[in-house]
Amino acid sequence: MRRKLFAGNWKMNLGPNEARALIAELRRELDPQAAHLSRDRDILVAPPFISIPAAAQALAGSSILLGAQNAHFEDQGAFTGEIAPTMLKAFGVSHVILGHSERRHIFGESDELIGKRVAGVIAKRLNAILCVGETLNERDRGATLEVVLRQLQNGLSAVKPEDSKRVIVAYEPVWAIGTGRTATPEQAQEVHAALRESLRDHFGRQPADEIPLLYGGSVTPENVEALIAKPDIDGALVGGASLKAASFAAIVRAGRPTE
Ligand code: PEP
Repeated sequence: MRRKLFAGNWKMNLGPNEARALIAELRRELDPQAAHLSRDRDILVAPPFISIPAAAQALAGSSILLGAQNAHFEDQGAFTGEIAPTMLKAFGVSHVILGHSERRHIFGESDELIGKRVAGVIAKRLNAILCVGETLNERDRGATLEVVLRQLQNGLSAVKPEDSKRVIVAYEPVWAIGTGRTATPEQAQEVHAALRESLRDHFGRQPADEIPLLYGGSVTPENVEALIAKPDIDGALVGGASLKAASFAAIVRAGRPTE
């Protein structure tokens, strides 16, 4: 059985003090249930770079994992404004979100660049959360699977089969991110099943069947249960609802509310 992953993408929110405060609140909510929850799931928060040191301190002794929202593919050099994988690792970061739709559509990151970032992060023994997702226009013209499979294949083109354990994929329809409009569990499952098939072609059946596929896009405590009940939906990448301890904790507990 695949472990689930619930990851909070804080985006450009919460400086160091606010990060500490949110993590303290989250720990008050989740620490008492940590042993119970960690049986089948991992929990991760991805603060902005500047808040990572404070978050790392606040997470000391916790089973909550620390993520970053991007990373460069090289480990040092003349890359103004970028952060190296090793710099993130030094603070205990274990996962890096790559190819988020805001990176693709606001900052113009290409499939090729994202593929290089994925390979660079994995080369430093970090886990890559590769995001894929279609725009509303692409969905309306029936191009959803073509788009997400192209993003998946390009994103993973340089990942070797032996590194499949470092890959997580997040399907995030662009029209569902921050809009309050969620894909139905059936829409999400259809895409996840196609992603799984493509991962089987790339890595082989068994390694592909172990890769967690997250859904992201306006996930809330109210809609998460139905999403993760689908066979290929292994957790969630959560934006807005991860900024409040109560809502993120409720999402994290989905399907496993009490001991
Ligand atoms: C995201 O940023 O990855 C995301 C899914 O955001 P939201 O949950 O706010 O739609």
